[in-house]
Amino acid sequence: MSIKITNECINCGACASECPNHAIYEGSEEWSLSEGTNIKGIVKISSGLLIDAESSQTPEKRDIYFIVKDKCTECVGFYNEPQCMAVCPVDCCVLDEENVESKKSLLEKKKFLHPPI
Ligand code: SF4
Ligand code: SF4
Repeated sequence: MSIKITNECINCGACASECPNHAIYEGSEEWSLSEGTNIKGIVKISSGLLIDAESSQTPEKRDIYFIVKDKCTECVGFYNEPQCMAVCPVDCCVLDEENVESKKSLLEKKKFLHPPI
């Protein structure tokens, strides 16, 4: 599953720089699939929508940091544990029970995000 940030977030920003997939954004910040990854062109995301990887997307939260689930691999392929969970001072990075993914699927997502260039 991916990780989500709960409303307890204090906006300290410690998690964002630790993410190997650039999946974490500040509230109100536009995001893109291509930022911090090697994805280019039109791609299908988990919702089934086709989007331009380099286009700016609407922020998912306005007041607190958020994690783009299509970019979160639980750090699989990079680290042994989710780095955002490890550094968050208030433990508000938690497993998202509504977005369960197997280790295999997380590894495939990592390959999707970082294809060889
Ligand atoms: Fe990024 Fe890893 Fe946190 Fe997912 S678990 S948001 S990949 S730091
Ligand atoms: Fe919010 Fe935790 Fe990230 Fe700080 S480390 S911005 S409290 S989620």
